[in-house]
Amino acid sequence: MLESGSPLFSFEYFPPKTAKGERKLFDTIRAMKSLKPAFVSITCGAAGTTRARTVEWAERIKNDIGLQVLVHLTCLGMTRHELVDAIRAVRSAGLSNILALRGDPAQDGSEFGHPEGGCKYAIDLIQIIRDVYPEACVVGACYPEGHVEEADKQLDLDRLKAKCDTGLDVLITQLFFENRHYFEFVSRARDAGIQQQIIPGIMPVTNLKQIEKFTRMCGATIPPELLTKLEACGDDSEAVLAVGVEHATVQCRDLIDRGAPGLHFYTLNKSPATRMIVENLK
Ligand code: FAD
Repeated sequence: MLESGSPLFSFEYFPPKTAKGERKLFDTIRAMKSLKPAFVSITCGAAGTTRARTVEWAERIKNDIGLQVLVHLTCLGMTRHELVDAIRAVRSAGLSNILALRGDPAQDGSEFGHPEGGCKYAIDLIQIIRDVYPEACVVGACYPEGHVEEADKQLDLDRLKAKCDTGLDVLITQLFFENRHYFEFVSRARDAGIQQQIIPGIMPVTNLKQIEKFTRMCGATIPPELLTKLEACGDDSEAVLAVGVEHATVQCRDLIDRGAPGLHFYTLNKSPATRMIVENLK
């Protein structure tokens, strides 16, 4: 089970595409171990495209580096039979923490579909995990600024409550840049009866165009002051990194001071920004 000591750091990575990328990432994760993350999480590509590699990677990191791993598992486009096999593969690999997600479709939309008996939403996957692997620690995603597909925030929250009640142990949030979104969301979640720990997801900005694309896709907002500072950096990537690290450090310190149970860093497989922020916090 995931440790829930106070406060925890965790780092998210995606499985690399090439052998060279694999070696590089493996070294990065090994080096980041010195920061003592409570766990690292390994993503599953759009529409489940990296599912097998995700589990292979997670197993290697657990066995060869000795870190606790959270495996992302998406359900979009999969039959129930395939999902049961995928969950059994996670268990056979000795992994016991699963982030249960609906997933996003591939960017061309080609694999968006709901096979007969498959899952439409994460809640359906959570039920299957509870049936097949009841002792797993199951984590779910949540959205402080609301999920991009649902304008009605109360309805989105009601669905989150149902997802939690189906068997979630912990929640991790989508990225956000203003802590008021997180604290207001936690307060609304508690009012709705959601008891699970809500770990804030932090993405250090290292590239303006990239962060604009991500926020467009996931419906998060970049505060105007941060945007102005980033725009003023122009093409100076070192300056962007400095602004991103400074913003995230202030954000993380405030989150921890005001009681957040930990910090989950979306590293995008790059260590310097996350390392600087964690060092700043220590
Ligand atoms: P759900 O909880 O199923 O919600 C999706 C939408 O459906 C919401 O709008 C919700 O309101 C709505 N909904 C839920 N139930 C119902 C219902 N019964 N009827 C009608 N509408 C309903 N994506 C990947 O592809 N791979 C990853 O590895 C990955 N990792 C992530 C990690 C984190 C921490 C987060 C926050 C997101 C991650 N994502 C990943 C993105 C995620 O898959 C997308 O945000 C996706 O759009 C929603 O996934 P979900 O599990 O939150 O879906």
